[in-house]
Amino acid sequence: THIAILMEQAVGETRVAAIPETVKKFVALGANIMVEKDAGKSASISDAEYEAVGAKIVSRADAVKNADIILAIQGPDPKSISGAKTGAALLASLNPFVERGNIDAYAASGLDAMAMEFMPRITRAQSMDILSSQSNLAGYKAVLEAASHYGRAFPMMMTAAGTVSAAKAFVMGVGVAGLQAIATARRLGAQVSATDVRSATKEQILSLGAKPIFVENVAGIEGEGSGGYATEMSEEYQKAQAELVSSHIAKQDIVITTALIPGRAAPRLISDAQIATMRAGSVIVDLAAEAGGNVEGAEAGKVVVKHGVKIVGAKNMASLLAADASALFSRNLYNFLSSFWDKESNKPIFPQDDELVIGVRVTHGGKIVHDRLLGEG
Ligand code: NAD
Repeated sequence: THIAILMEQAVGETRVAAIPETVKKFVALGANIMVEKDAGKSASISDAEYEAVGAKIVSRADAVKNADIILAIQGPDPKSISGAKTGAALLASLNPFVERGNIDAYAASGLDAMAMEFMPRITRAQSMDILSSQSNLAGYKAVLEAASHYGRAFPMMMTAAGTVSAAKAFVMGVGVAGLQAIATARRLGAQVSATDVRSATKEQILSLGAKPIFVENVAGIEGEGSGGYATEMSEEYQKAQAELVSSHIAKQDIVITTALIPGRAAPRLISDAQIATMRAGSVIVDLAAEAGGNVEGAEAGKVVVKHGVKIVGAKNMASLLAADASALFSRNLYNFLSSFWDKESNKPIFPQDDELVIGVRVTHGGKIVHDRLLGEG
């Protein structure tokens, strides 16, 4: 089996879908690895390091032409992989709802395309979950971005020249990114509070030493929600949440928003009027900016200033931690592929009826096959 590792082409994308450690493991399974020249460069991995563990460095055309499996971070431009074999597997974060044209083209080329961000949230798949591994880093980096844009310090400091008070940080959305944001802000010395629609997060917030801020008069989502995900909330809930946020946010210096609803635009959590109540110099980091934004006025990849408040619109935060993000993403891909590896035929076999395969596979046999891309849903 030949596995191709592509060089990413999107602007600002620094990650790579295999690191020497995972290449070595694939080689041990019996695979031939072809790495596109310079694929690891922006993640500080040289071609020589890949060669040292048994990979071949080749052109993109050669990598694609010979590949049975193509690994990438983002879904490649279909034209750039038009030489791929019919039936070759393509594993990446394919962003199917936005890049529908790519998905159609992968289907037309007969690729077995797998959107790795659709990995089911079940125990068996935890080590294969790119959303978790990348969100965790994004949550950490969001706090560092906030700290660097903030004209004050996070921790309380008692100095000879007087006392600096601790920053107040509020995390909205306590999934994987939010939990890491809480932990990071706490480590930097901020006073942290957090909110979510899922009541199960209350205890997690407390266990990290932060203060839960929850809508009390309208029921949220009990337990973990469906597959760990939130759904769109009722109008009544949204109104109660807006009131709660209004009274809390005016006292905050730092706000990190991370709320996402899979397959839908991110919920709007902070309005321009609410931003106007914050102290000038406060910082909001919107990790959902690429999904439409939790914060009114946020623009992905930009810092905008409204009412003296800096709004950082996150764009591909994981790419700012290229080496770690690549390592975790690569292991997610390796864990998925190796779990299906068939020793006799020396390649992965993906059973049609496997829960994980059904979860991630978007095109197969020339057709779009995923429920969420067919009809509604
Ligand atoms: P996510 O990225 O989909 O969303 C981030 C957070 O925003 C979630 O906690 C969500 O409840 C919250 N949110 C949505 N709408 C909101 C609103 N209107 N107001 C406030 N908050 C809102 O979530 P995630 O980080 O992927 O994690 C969700 C859950 O799934 C967690 O409990 C996590 O532990 C679980 N999980 C399980 C697995 C697994 O078992 N394999 C893998 C990853 C995550």
